[in-house]
Amino acid sequence: MKNNNKIIAANWKMNGSEELMKEFSQLTRAKHNEIIICPPFTLLDTAKTTLPNFIKIGAQNCSEEDKGPFTGEISASMLREKSVSHVLVGHSERRTLFKETDDVIFKKVKASIRSKLTPIVCIGETLSEKEANKTLQTLDSQINGSLAKIEPYAQVIVAYEPVWAIGTGLIPNENEIKETHLYIKTKLNQHFNTDIPILYGGSANSENCSQIISIDNVGGLLVGGASLKKHDFKAICNC
Ligand code: PEP
Repeated sequence: MKNNNKIIAANWKMNGSEELMKEFSQLTRAKHNEIIICPPFTLLDTAKTTLPNFIKIGAQNCSEEDKGPFTGEISASMLREKSVSHVLVGHSERRTLFKETDDVIFKKVKASIRSKLTPIVCIGETLSEKEANKTLQTLDSQINGSLAKIEPYAQVIVAYEPVWAIGTGLIPNENEIKETHLYIKTKLNQHFNTDIPILYGGSANSENCSQIISIDNVGGLLVGGASLKKHDFKAICNC
């Protein structure tokens, strides 16, 4: 059975090329799902001129500042000028490798909303937090730290990505996904006036996508590795 109105977002990370973008230009419209591709900054122009119109373009990060002496940074308003509509914020690789805290992530969410981008805010527990039964506690503090002070009517997407599932081939079982997504939904509903889509991310692929996407309160998928292969991504877009 098809799932209506899900969001499929591709995180290309520091991968991809003009060549790959050309391959993706042949993607045909998925019947039901909204598709967002987040290539590296250097491919945003190519994405705009190459990808079919039904695919939205996202960035993988933005500065918390609007402009100024921040060498190497790119602001949300600069992304907006590049026809970007979405931006990943707080991906676990940014949290871990670039030491982004919930406070920084909160500022980036605010900056993206100021520039009329929809932030896709990534949250999720590490393996040691899971093993210590602290998954919900981690999600609670990440949501409190990065989203609790955002205007309740803001348009935001949340991606639940267990850190231990990213790039490992491991995924939580159905009950675990059900429990975390319900927890996140309940918590977001206490604050936001609108329904916030909650994507699942972490080793999603063309084989498991239909099963994951049909779990209660899963609003779509954030896909890393499998989004770099056209045939796999096409199958995921149509799941
Ligand atoms: C990600 O890094 O956002 C991700 C979901 O990666 P993967 O699909 O490769 O696990």
